[in-house]
Amino acid sequence: MKTVRSIASLEAALKPLRSKKSIGFVPTMGALHEGHLSLVRLAKKQNDVVVASIFVNPTQFGPKEDFKKYPRNLSKDAALLKSAKADILFYPSAAEMYPEGFQTSVTVSELAKPLCGLSRPWHFGGVATVVAKLLGAVKPDTLYLGQKDYQQFLVVERMARDLNLTVHVKMAPIVREKDGLAMSSRNAYLSVTERKEATALNRALLSAKKLLSKGERNAAALKTAMRREIAATSGRIDYAEIVDARTLADVLVLKKGSKALFALAVRFGKTRLIDNILVNP
Ligand code: AMP
Repeated sequence: MKTVRSIASLEAALKPLRSKKSIGFVPTMGALHEGHLSLVRLAKKQNDVVVASIFVNPTQFGPKEDFKKYPRNLSKDAALLKSAKADILFYPSAAEMYPEGFQTSVTVSELAKPLCGLSRPWHFGGVATVVAKLLGAVKPDTLYLGQKDYQQFLVVERMARDLNLTVHVKMAPIVREKDGLAMSSRNAYLSVTERKEATALNRALLSAKKLLSKGERNAAALKTAMRREIAATSGRIDYAEIVDARTLADVLVLKKGSKALFALAVRFGKTRLIDNILVNP
């Protein structure tokens, strides 16, 4: 695996391959776990060449968020990417991504508003802009994103379509710990007690899904079931929502054949965790 730090050296490595080889791209912020590696493996299965990036993007963090303390461990991450058979690690500096004079940003208006957009209104603008920039640098055939950040997937997919980017955007399933907690770089912040309590997110989603399978179609009742699981812990609910899986609009009654997203964001201490499931009643 080759590690490159500049857009020019990334292009030098990719240019000879572009006409003959398919390129899959997995953007990350590092602190890699099985969730990230599953994306790399999927990309490798479907492409000749896999580029993974590690860039902790300052513009998607709020002023009081964890940008400074976000876990960074390049040598460990590089070894993991190598073991997952990534071909190129793109590891740009902030100065490479946002040189002096930088003044362009990408806004995806509607899909960025609900769910995480309510408590993190700056977030998806930062994400859309950095992903647009990374796509401009890598120019992959296919971009791989995780369902863990489902709203991010929809925002990026919309952005790619709206800006006529030719990239295919693919979503891969959530990878979970044995006890159901969705893998996340931020799980490392949790205390032992919080880590145990954090399994309530997945339990909450599954209890709502179970209720749905018993015939409950009323979203308010399903959300109450989700909230009940979280209420038994020290977690503070940021949102517990049921929305249309394409538009993220609120759903009041789940209808046969229309895909819905059960989505949760919960704070344990200072750590904010998200999780979701897609259901097709
Ligand atoms: P991040 O490093 O958190 O920005 O995540 C980079 C990519 O990995 C995003 O597309 C995430 O959705 C994806 N990802 C993060 N956690 C998981 C997980 N547990 N399962 C699957 N994909 C994940």
